[in-house]
Amino acid sequence: MNNIVAIVGRPNVGKSTFFNRLVGKRQSITDDVSGVTRDRQYGMCDWGGKNFPVVDTGGFVLHSDDVFEKAIRAQVRTAVEEASVILFMCDVMTGITDLDAEVADMLRRSKKPVFLVVNKVDNHHRLLDAQEFWTMGFEQTFFVASVNGSGTGDVLDEILPFIENVEDMENEIPRFCIVGQPNAGKSSFLNALIGEERAIVTDIPGTTRDTTHTHYTKFDRNFYLVDTAGIRKKAKVHEDLEFYSVMRAIQAIEESDICMLMIDATQGLQQQDLSIFGLAKDRNKGIVIIVNKWDLVEGKESNTPRDWEEKLLHKLAPFNDVPIVFMSVLEKQRIMRAIDAAIDVHQNRSRKITTSVINDWLQETIGSHPPPSVKGRFGTIKYMTQLPIAYPIFALFCNNPNYIRDDYKLYLENRMRQRFNFKGVPITLSFREK
Ligand code: GDP
Ligand code: GDP
Repeated sequence: MNNIVAIVGRPNVGKSTFFNRLVGKRQSITDDVSGVTRDRQYGMCDWGGKNFPVVDTGGFVLHSDDVFEKAIRAQVRTAVEEASVILFMCDVMTGITDLDAEVADMLRRSKKPVFLVVNKVDNHHRLLDAQEFWTMGFEQTFFVASVNGSGTGDVLDEILPFIENVEDMENEIPRFCIVGQPNAGKSSFLNALIGEERAIVTDIPGTTRDTTHTHYTKFDRNFYLVDTAGIRKKAKVHEDLEFYSVMRAIQAIEESDICMLMIDATQGLQQQDLSIFGLAKDRNKGIVIIVNKWDLVEGKESNTPRDWEEKLLHKLAPFNDVPIVFMSVLEKQRIMRAIDAAIDVHQNRSRKITTSVINDWLQETIGSHPPPSVKGRFGTIKYMTQLPIAYPIFALFCNNPNYIRDDYKLYLENRMRQRFNFKGVPITLSFREK
């Protein structure tokens, strides 16, 4: 059970519009011309007290006409393998197409829960047209209009029983995962660790079918490495490697405390790396960036670690208080340093600051630089406290949260990072009315 909800279907049926409804962001680009590039392929949905990742598979299909049907089939196969729940989206305006019928066949044969979501049912007339979709034989059939959100709540209500509540458990032994693009060097890293560590204590099965958590204890370091099967035995080359590896990354992040994001030094930071970084951050996971294959670029002009670091931090802003390790698995350079960085980040993520210490800091900080006014109104922050949760969240009580500007919130966060060590850890400041 990995709780991933995947939306599959032909281009232009409205997957991206529906996805944006579920994750509550509306800035993703949609266009009547199929094949626009999207900025987001996955995000978190919050419904009925549960929180689960949603993947918009549409973002992974290349739209040259001849590959497109094949790509959709491949995508559906991957979704069936990797997701917990599948939302199969069709378009009432086109009716049931041949490809729809074919995909329906594939999905009916899968053992996963499948929900048929017929989109663009904007009015009563279309609701009549939509009845033909019952012939596809899905017990769970819904009629929605993603543009205005009608019907989406009903779909979510029915999905909820299939979502497991993953409690963010307080873990004494941290769980690390290695994520990154294909070929970054993840399995080499893992093998190097296994080489260094002959005494693997246990291989306990993870919560996902394909995940194992390996417990390492040597060198006084104690951690689990979450290994989605994709890393160690990536035997078969997947037709849609990018989609497949993103699904794997989401699973790994969900099951870890700290995420080691591995970047290939010869490729630089890619959009996909940023997406994974964003996901880990949104999930409040600790993050270490590993720049691997350093042996291939070392010594070349404008390739000092400092140059690299500067460029990276710029791209990651505003959250760029993260450790970066320059590694060469090949030459066994700085392999344990990456592990140590992850252990440090775990300590930072578990850090608890007492209410008196944090309030002394708060008074000092707002004393020297109080919140600026918003439309002539002044926000006053009375006190703050850290919430008893596995990762750092602080509640700040003020007269009216609307009077605290975003840039001031960022200022407070940065000052906090200067004073307390939260390197590698997203922190949340939650402003509440008192
Ligand atoms: P995707 O390719 O499946 O992700 O489809 P998009 O989300 O990009 O939507 C394709 C087109 O359908 C866009 O022009 C949307 O505005 C439109 N669309 C999406 N949902 C609805 C709907 O509920 N009603 C109508 N009339 N149009 C919609
Ligand atoms: P994965 O797909 O992320 O698991 O990547 P692999 O571990 O399979 O590595 C992909 C390729 O990069 C292999 O040919 C590795 O030998 C090579 N590789 C991995 N780490 C390094 C490194 O530090 N330096 C160099 N030069 N090559 C590396």
